Amino acid sequence: MSTIINDIEIIKAETSKIKDIDFDNLKFGSVFSDHMLECDFKDGKWQKPKIVPYHPITLDPSAKIFHYGQSVFEGMKAYKDTNNDVFLFRPTDNIKRLNISAKRMAIPELPENYFMDGLKALLKVDEAWIPTNEGSSLYIRPFIFASGNGFHASPANEYKFIICTAPSGSYFSGKVKVLIEETYSRSANGGVGFAKAGGNYAGQFYPTQLAIDKGYQQVIWTDDNTHEYIEEAGAMNIFVRINDTLITGPTSDRILDGITRKSIIAIAESKGIPVEVRKITVKEVVDAAKNGELKEMFGAGTAAVISPIAGFGYKNEDFDLPELKETYASLLKKQITDIQTNKSEDSFGWRY
Ligand code: PMP
Repeated sequence: MSTIINDIEIIKAETSKIKDIDFDNLKFGSVFSDHMLECDFKDGKWQKPKIVPYHPITLDPSAKIFHYGQSVFEGMKAYKDTNNDVFLFRPTDNIKRLNISAKRMAIPELPENYFMDGLKALLKVDEAWIPTNEGSSLYIRPFIFASGNGFHASPANEYKFIICTAPSGSYFSGKVKVLIEETYSRSANGGVGFAKAGGNYAGQFYPTQLAIDKGYQQVIWTDDNTHEYIEEAGAMNIFVRINDTLITGPTSDRILDGITRKSIIAIAESKGIPVEVRKITVKEVVDAAKNGELKEMFGAGTAAVISPIAGFGYKNEDFDLPELKETYASLLKKQITDIQTNKSEDSFGWRY
């Protein structure tokens, strides 16, 4: 049976899987809620989004996504507070970035209201799937891919926009040891590094596995031209604290404009922490590690919020970071998650 709410057709699943889910032991992004949003681009325009039961999709073997990787995605979260009110964090930044990514990958841009109204309808239908346990949230994965057919290496004429959601536990994986990359790069000037394009991530898997084989958990990406500048930490933006100053690289063709990154910059500045947005050389990080001025390094992104770095490897040498009692990482993580989960004032107006 289907109903129409706010102009969006909703076809509900006959039965719910929710009883089978152990909400106390959720891994990241591995179980999926009962419904998904589905929206097709065909005949030259985006058709209306629908909420439908979560289901596998059938594609022609010649669908261009399989051959040319024409796809983009987003990552965001929904949170519930103690009154069971539901919140998103800066969601309009996600739809704007999805369309920036789409444009770069020659995918037709999506009307913003299809994204926002569709997402709100999906969250209403699957509200019970938003976890309430400390640190848990509903991870939201919007994505668009080329579903149109043909081996011709050109943009498809049909696309699918889908939003799936996955109740997820706290992402905390402990401190990580990272390897500063000297050979491979995840992006280049004029390339697609600033876009959340699927292939960017596939291209990271092999160098990351090489780092894992050497005993590290993650790669610190450096610029493609010289490998002298630190750019990102795995699929996160990177922050370095030298003495009391927090430093992160400027966004560019090669660096994703992370929503966590820009929120951290604003929170840190509001707390009186000196922040510098500028290029960071590998040399200054190594020198600071040697003379004791390097206090912290961490990755920042939606999934883990902040992922502290315990130490790094570079040119066959390992450097450990100090164990500080009070870190910017934990202060900033608390500030941002308190805003996200409605535990504190939101003077920035980010909570939605
Ligand atoms: N850099 C890359 C390459 C990413 O994939 C992500 C995750 N989206 C980030 C940075 C962090 O972005 P955000 O804070 O918006 O999740």
